[in-house]
Amino acid sequence: MKTFSDLIEEVQKHGLCQRCGGCVAFCTALNYGGLELDEEGNPRYKAEGKEKCIGGGLCYSICPETHELDEEVKNLVNWEAPMGRVLCSLVARTTNPAIKERATDGGVVTALLLNLFEKGHIDGAIVTKESGLFQRRPWLAHSKEEIIGSAGFHFDASHGLQLFSELYSTYSPSFVKVGYISSKRLDRVAFVGTPCQVNTIRRIQALGIEPANSITIIFGLFCTGNFIFGPEQQHQLEKIGNFRWDEVNKINVKEHLMIHLRNKEIRHISLDQLDFMKRHACHYCFDYSAEFADLSFGGLGSPEGWTTVITRSLQGQAVLNDALGGTIETYRHKYPPILATEILAKVMELSDRKKQSAKKNRMRDVRQPEIIQE
Ligand SMILES: Cc1cc2nc3c(=O)[nH]c(=O)nc-3n(C[C@H](O)[C@H](O)[C@H](O)COP(=O)(O)OP(=O)(O)OC[C@H]3O[C@@H](n4cnc5c(N)ncnc54)[C@H](O)[C@@H]3O)c2cc1C
Ligand code: SF4
Ligand code: SF4
Repeated sequence: MKTFSDLIEEVQKHGLCQRCGGCVAFCTALNYGGLELDEEGNPRYKAEGKEKCIGGGLCYSICPETHELDEEVKNLVNWEAPMGRVLCSLVARTTNPAIKERATDGGVVTALLLNLFEKGHIDGAIVTKESGLFQRRPWLAHSKEEIIGSAGFHFDASHGLQLFSELYSTYSPSFVKVGYISSKRLDRVAFVGTPCQVNTIRRIQALGIEPANSITIIFGLFCTGNFIFGPEQQHQLEKIGNFRWDEVNKINVKEHLMIHLRNKEIRHISLDQLDFMKRHACHYCFDYSAEFADLSFGGLGSPEGWTTVITRSLQGQAVLNDALGGTIETYRHKYPPILATEILAKVMELSDRKKQSAKKNRMRDVRQPEIIQE
């Protein structure tokens, strides 16, 4: 049976660990307590963690980079080539002014979460909360205000799944937070995350092991990559984009990195120019459009202030339908639906580009055919 030591050898040492935190979350959730994330988000054995490890090997199986459960996950979500199942695509935005004000694009993610919460379909949502200039930290939102407060976006490798384990600790009597979380009855939770995080959750669901049952709906975000915004990178970006950070109002990513300045000008920086600040593992990532989610969201192709939405499961479709005409409006009322089709073609193009680039980078850097596969 392979264990976390094999993950170190086969995944981490090749620079392929996406830091999704799944292995740590799972180990913690089962109360084995052998693993933790270091300051940079890399999973590692805790002091004496190796002795605590029971060698069950599930941390190895659920890691997206071991590819052990690829087929099971694809079957679970009825995955189809070339970029996952697509039931429908549309351009939408929220009608809620409080969400609009904070939203990254059209605020659809937050509006759908709020709608689910207010109608009693979920008890909370694992989202992120702003914690610094470019940083967000994982957050379990379980009130209307907290859900609205989670809208928006800053680039950072959020360790969204670490909180997942805390959530599961609801069911684990040895955890400090058990009383608090279980008193909130958080057993129906939505998850919002990047494609790598979504992928890991699906692996846990494919195995049918806890805490899979607590995550009842999965929202995936399109993802070109996560970026490091250290002082050096900030400085270089200022030069490339010809702006100063004290002039910046908001950043976003669609076809380009878009730097919105306070004077309303927008600087567009090609994504190809951002390689110097991309997280290492993102260079090897195949998934742009969150192919395993119930619903995927991005700004790509949509006009400013609108979100591109792809529904991938009947459950995702139902979640969207329930909010349409209420807290969500579609672009289709004013413009022909052909726009959504054109946008889907764009998503497909970027998705293909990401797959090709990951393949090329793996061939160049990893040199192990068995882990170059998609
Ligand atoms: C790292 C990252 C890269 C992205 N890259 C692209 C891209 O290349 N092209 C594209 O079209 N769209 C990209 N997106 C998606 C886009 O930025 C929007 O999240 C999406 O369009 C939904 O917009 P919204 O206004 O409906 O969401 P909102 O209502 O504003 O909600 C956004 C949700 O995302 C969560 N979130 C914010 N930051 C993070 C984070 N770092 N990690 C996990 N969750 C987070 C928030 O908590 C919130 O729940 C990316 C998002 C992230 C987080
Ligand atoms: S499960 Fe996630 S964090 Fe753990 S080794 Fe695999 S990619 Fe890295
Ligand atoms: S590109 Fe996005 S989905 Fe892929 S590993 Fe990086 S953060 Fe995760």
